[in-house]
Amino acid sequence: MDLPRFRYCPLCATALDPAGGPHGRPRCPACHYVQYADPKVATGVVVEHRGQLLLVRRNHEPRYGAWSFPSGFVDAGEVITEAAAREVLEETGVQVRIERLLGVYSTADDAVIFVAYAGSTTGGEPHAGAEALEVGLFSPGDVPELGFPHDAAILERWRSGDHTPAAP
Ligand SMILES: [Zn+2]
Repeated sequence: MDLPRFRYCPLCATALDPAGGPHGRPRCPACHYVQYADPKVATGVVVEHRGQLLLVRRNHEPRYGAWSFPSGFVDAGEVITEAAAREVLEETGVQVRIERLLGVYSTADDAVIFVAYAGSTTGGEPHAGAEALEVGLFSPGDVPELGFPHDAAILERWRSGDHTPAAP
């Protein structure tokens, strides 16, 4: 996702000076509003279900049709572990207990910060929700090609068993 850029001041509609603010940020010459490009926070879960990994095949861009972990954006004011469990439920129909933090991932010129957790199912039978083409259960040693750049590193971290308790 590209960083959002606006040409006009959202407060007074004056054309922004594209690099007139601190550290080259866009600044309004009339009301001195400075445009900060806030990141978007997304979260996903490596979900274990009866010894297998639960993955979803995406039915929306980016990476339409790719396998990946259940994931999505965190709402402002939402506890991130609750957002992670919510996304798992929405996409796969199962309840999950979030157990550990796997890592925090970001990329230059990409607005998304991705927070990856590990969890285990506590209820429900996996089925594709509204945001998934299908769900699949895979042996941890035989996972299909995954859709996002950080996915392989996240899976490697999960396999390593490194344990950082997830904050509530
Ligand atoms: Zn202004």
